Amino acid sequence: IAMAVKNSGPEDVLTRVFGFSEFRPYQEELVRGLVAGKDVFGVMPTGGGKSLCYQLPAVMAEGCAIVVSPLIALMKDQVDAARANGIRAACVNSSMPVDLRLEAEGAYRSGELDLLYLAPERLSSEGMLERLRNCPKGAPAFFAIDEAHCLSEWGHDFRPDYLFLGELRRAFPSVPIAAFTATATPKVAVDIEKRLKLKEAIKVRASFDRPNLRYSVRQKTDWESQLLEFLKARAGQSGIVYRLSRKSVEATAALLRANGIDAAAYHAGMESVERTKVQDDFIRDNTRVIVATVAFGMGIDKPDVRFVAHGDMPKNIESYYQETGRAGRDGDPSDCLLLFSGADVVGLRRMLAQTPDESERQRSLALLREMEQFASTPSCRRRSLLSYFGEESSKENCGRCDFCEGHFKETDATRDAQIVLSAVARSGENFGLGHVCDIVAGAKTAKIREQKHDQLKTYGLGAERPKKYWRGIADRLLSEEILQVEDPSFPVLKLTSTAWELMRGQRDFVIYEDQREEPEKAKRKGSKDLLPCHEGLFEHLSALRKEISDADEVPPYVVFADRTLRQLAAVMPVDVDLLEGFSGIGTHKREAYGDRFVSAIADYLKENPEASEERKALSEVLPAKKVPVRKPTGGTFAVTLEMLREGQELTAIAEKRELSIGTIEGHVARLIENGEEIDWRAFVSPEQEKLADQLLEKHGSDALKPLVEGSGGQLGYGQLKIFLAVRGIY
Ligand code: ADP
Ligand code: ZN
Repeated sequence: IAMAVKNSGPEDVLTRVFGFSEFRPYQEELVRGLVAGKDVFGVMPTGGGKSLCYQLPAVMAEGCAIVVSPLIALMKDQVDAARANGIRAACVNSSMPVDLRLEAEGAYRSGELDLLYLAPERLSSEGMLERLRNCPKGAPAFFAIDEAHCLSEWGHDFRPDYLFLGELRRAFPSVPIAAFTATATPKVAVDIEKRLKLKEAIKVRASFDRPNLRYSVRQKTDWESQLLEFLKARAGQSGIVYRLSRKSVEATAALLRANGIDAAAYHAGMESVERTKVQDDFIRDNTRVIVATVAFGMGIDKPDVRFVAHGDMPKNIESYYQETGRAGRDGDPSDCLLLFSGADVVGLRRMLAQTPDESERQRSLALLREMEQFASTPSCRRRSLLSYFGEESSKENCGRCDFCEGHFKETDATRDAQIVLSAVARSGENFGLGHVCDIVAGAKTAKIREQKHDQLKTYGLGAERPKKYWRGIADRLLSEEILQVEDPSFPVLKLTSTAWELMRGQRDFVIYEDQREEPEKAKRKGSKDLLPCHEGLFEHLSALRKEISDADEVPPYVVFADRTLRQLAAVMPVDVDLLEGFSGIGTHKREAYGDRFVSAIADYLKENPEASEERKALSEVLPAKKVPVRKPTGGTFAVTLEMLREGQELTAIAEKRELSIGTIEGHVARLIENGEEIDWRAFVSPEQEKLADQLLEKHGSDALKPLVEGSGGQLGYGQLKIFLAVRGIY
């Protein structure tokens, strides 16, 4: 392999400006596309890292890039975040005072900006397109359209003022356009391309899997203590609790506050100033927990939301995915809890049944059923979610959901199902879920006495089990359509033909019994899978971060991400020169905040000398090299494989694909690891192999850097990856 001079431009900016050591999946393709002057189109989930895809090229490009975003409330935070990395950014929207607007436009005219955020209504205002020519370059460097699904009537958030964006291509035929969205169905995607008139765009569609999110669904037995225990286990972390109605939002927030949890309510019935304040306090870490209706979340991109709890089941899987998606944008482990009860489903069904439009009613009821199925059927939650979005998951066990973590035991429950069904039959198919379970459990309610149901044969047959067990059985019978509710406005249980088969013993019924204690006991967890660090020092550094962010009037995450603080609190550097290599510390932040953080660490160590015993090496706390989940049979790996098969050189492949040599070498390593027959000898000479073995002996395989440095220029990162893949350790 020739030690080709790497075209390391974007990679260099990635570390220098953003302080990140590697691209997230697909970021590199999009960045390089834009840098090369092409149109690009990225469909990536929330937290996929879309902003970097246009911010990085904006830093590299001549002139200023225009970012169009409908989320005016977010613009200032986005500008602050870019500025904190030393990017020259500004925004213009109608919520700003005129003088600030003029100042931003002035900076654009004189070529002092890398990035200008514009609200769509500004862009379409009289003469704006002409004014965009009024800059040293004579045109914007490129246009980046955020939330591009707003262009499509098929999307869930169509905005008529987005249609104006169709004009951009006409007005600036040679200026590249970049489109980004987190929610495009294929239909919406086609629409976006057409409306923006994208030309031979580089298109990527990332997986919608959010590997850092843990999903769990629990039977809602006693939501108050369930929620309280869940929150207590996550004290001090930021999170959102969703409830369906305003009333339950208010009640839940009051409950949490009464129990010493710092929580605020948020719903559409509140004054808009009040809502803005609640949102602001959340973003600034003044309030830790928000209890909200679905109205909350659109306008925030707080990256360190550590949990999302659903106190009620959402109406459909899209909403559930979107709401849980607000957790863990920063990629750190986060928890999603859904409390599920059959009674909630009945309530929702009753509500949706009132939708006047027939086809819309049918559609929403069908979506509700899918959501119910998801929640009530124990199986890998991630797999179910992904399959809903038409994606297949490669792993049998995702390792991050309550099912895969083994909380369910498969048990035969044919007899118990028969008991419930016979209670339905004997009470004349005339009662709801709650009452039927009362009969089985032998409850002494007034209704039981009135109806003389204590004289039924099934009465009390299940008395040795708690009522919630019978509820669970009835829920499953409903979700498997063995029992039915014919009229949602009058939810009584009806038997189906399958029910009769079951009662006659012609079929079996298995359940997955939830082995978990309810409510979960509040051990302090949640943080257990975050990067281990000295917690006291972490708190100390968080306090400093808060101080700085309040003084600078920016959200704390703009100063440093949690992950950065945890790395600092583990490695404990006491000199600014040691700040190299930490996640999210680029040149600008090192200069702006470095001194204060290292002296805070030094102070803390002086006060608490024993803390230094927990000090770790930086290489120990950097994320383990992520194993891409993409399979070599598809996507970018396959392209590289094919080109290799055609006998093309690595340098040629890199050039044609506009990727770095290092990336292509990474592909080769992955392909080898996946068992593809590749003549690796072409890439690593026998001398190099020998050297690599020696270095490996000396430094181990945990980090590549010491190996590369130890080779004195004879081995590159990519080559080492290939070598380690051959040895089966990469
Ligand atoms: P999206 O807009 O796609 O939801 P963002 O652009 O807000 O995502 O990015 C989510 C988070 O991921 C941010 O905190 C950002 O700093 C971080 N991030 C983006 N790219 C990288 C990367 N290559 N390495 C590490 N963190 C990244
Ligand atoms: Zn799973």
